[in-house]
Amino acid sequence: MSTPGAAALSSGTPCSTILDLRQQLWAVESAGGLVGFVPTMGYLHAGHSSLIRSAASDCDVVVVSIFVNPLQFAPTEDLSVYPRDLSRDLELIAEAGATADRVIVFTPTVGEMYPSPVLTEVSVGVLSGTMEGASRPTHFTGVATVVAKLFSIIGPCRAYFGEKDFQQLAIIERMVTDLSMPIEVVGCPIVRETDGLALSSRNIYLGGSERAGAPVLRAALDEGVRLIASGTRDADDVRNAMSEVISGEASAVLDYVEVADPRSLAPVDQIDGEVRLFVAAAFGRARLIDNCSATP
Ligand code: AMP
Repeated sequence: MSTPGAAALSSGTPCSTILDLRQQLWAVESAGGLVGFVPTMGYLHAGHSSLIRSAASDCDVVVVSIFVNPLQFAPTEDLSVYPRDLSRDLELIAEAGATADRVIVFTPTVGEMYPSPVLTEVSVGVLSGTMEGASRPTHFTGVATVVAKLFSIIGPCRAYFGEKDFQQLAIIERMVTDLSMPIEVVGCPIVRETDGLALSSRNIYLGGSERAGAPVLRAALDEGVRLIASGTRDADDVRNAMSEVISGEASAVLDYVEVADPRSLAPVDQIDGEVRLFVAAAFGRARLIDNCSATP
């Protein structure tokens, strides 16, 4: 199916209706092509590129969706000002998807995705209640609902998600298992700036001193990793140390730090195996998150 180097955005323009996307995918499926899927909210950066590049190297056809999903924003959040730049996104997608046979960019409107009020929601139980779910109570139901809908539109595929949103990745994996969806979920490593700040579309909100302070998130994770590697076993000691690092940065307003089981995401008391460290803080109007693995 694939013709390396022959990548092309289908017809050069994004496809914005479900019917148009389905028609293109019927042709791919009947030719036996493997579909890779990268869901995004646009304003793409090198983190998104890495997902698209992985999909393009594994799959014949790559679908990249760009949809700022209102369901996952609380009324007080940044839906109306979320950054957008479609022409730049299309350039980045064409470049990152260059090894796929074909790249289809799906840019539905809100009306196309939600023609009537949404009555059917997907919520992934206890995984959605902690950390981001505690700070943003409606967020993960909005995420799981839109991703389930996108999976239903696209059909069997390999879907790529960043570990940057590790809790989201765990929730999507669990949804796919619980609902026997014909989807293979692939987790991809976090892409960072040279100073350690994880790339995020929301980094655009950072002012000068906030941008200078934001790598403190990575510094807090590094401190947690260091303590665990050097023998600390009480998870509260690790939480306290990570909190102190973030509280020492004037531009940061700490939201949470967590030491959790990497699969259940349940908070850990004693560290006796691999754990996942999580941090979240606001820098001005940019609320940023980060995470990493740590092993005793
Ligand atoms: P978003 O557009 O923020 O919804 O993100 C779309 C996808 O890109 C999600 O699976 C994210 O986890 C992933 N992503 C965002 N930032 C990064 C990053 N710095 N490194 C790797 N993946 C990322």
